Amino acid sequence: MEKEIFRRLPDALLPWYAENKRILPWREISDPYCVWVSEIMLQQTRVEAVKGYYNRFVKVLPTVSHLATADDELLYKLWEGLGYYSRVRNMKKAAQLIMEKHNGKFPDKYADVIALPGVGPYTAGAICSIAFGLNTPAVDGNVLRVVSRLLNDFTPVDSQDFKKRVSQGLQEVYPGEAGTFTQALMELGATVCGPNRKPDCTACPCSSFCGGFRAGTTDQLPVKIPKRSRHMEDKTVVILRCGDCYALDKRPDKGLLSGMWQFPNVPGRLDLDGVLSVVKDMDLRVIEVSLIVERKHIFTHVQWNMTGVYLEVAERCDNFVWMTAEQINTDACLPTAFRLFWDELSKI
Ligand code: SF4
Repeated sequence: MEKEIFRRLPDALLPWYAENKRILPWREISDPYCVWVSEIMLQQTRVEAVKGYYNRFVKVLPTVSHLATADDELLYKLWEGLGYYSRVRNMKKAAQLIMEKHNGKFPDKYADVIALPGVGPYTAGAICSIAFGLNTPAVDGNVLRVVSRLLNDFTPVDSQDFKKRVSQGLQEVYPGEAGTFTQALMELGATVCGPNRKPDCTACPCSSFCGGFRAGTTDQLPVKIPKRSRHMEDKTVVILRCGDCYALDKRPDKGLLSGMWQFPNVPGRLDLDGVLSVVKDMDLRVIEVSLIVERKHIFTHVQWNMTGVYLEVAERCDNFVWMTAEQINTDACLPTAFRLFWDELSKI
């Protein structure tokens, strides 16, 4: 039964995809570099949010060679707001490796693609099938959800066992139009059989052989392994202004948001007296407290609960880089966790 369901997928999906696919900037392009950029951006990020970033990125850095030699600040600026900055750092390392090991030509073998930094089985599968027509499935959360519903299978979709079964099952039925099949499956999972809502089975080309639809269990699938609870961290962020400049410094080279710009901050939730004492230790004289706001930012395994304190100071100190608003907006890559406080300033 399982094999039969996999076998029927290409014939059901390909015509449906030709009729129903969304027009996206990276569709119809089989340049492996562009496929790679789009797939890395689409990890953890919504399609609508990626469109603008993708167009800008491939315009500024149109080839592997441009990416390999790009300045880090430019890269971070192009990625600003997308989050998970290790993705773009790995892309640069991968581009350098392609220049050194493959003479700048994007590798066309699965083993070479998956060996690139930041490229896992999903991305390698997507690049190889879409750009090179190989029968390499791209199994992500969308595909796993669709298949768990099709098979009416209650195995946790994030278990290695299920991922392997799905990958093997799909690989055996890949049609000649490998890239189109990969994209059709992704499209079904992103649209009619989408996450966090009831699937639109009446609009689905697979409903005639979908086990979940037949059994009436689609709203119970997919099943997932329960997540570890997120670690909470309190932080006090100090937005220091002197004249028309703001104090920033760089985060350490290792760890979360490594190498990014940040507003000065200390662990823990300080009250105003605590903040004023920290600032005094920096040899700065506060002339006005303009605002205190609470914000939170969620990373994969940690949540920052942040108190932002906005202070006007009489003079600058050497501990920080002092930037104008224009420099912050155009040159510095301020990750979203800190940009939350920057955006607040426009409301004052
Ligand atoms: Fe998903 Fe419904 Fe299609 Fe089954 S019939 S694959 S549950 S949209």
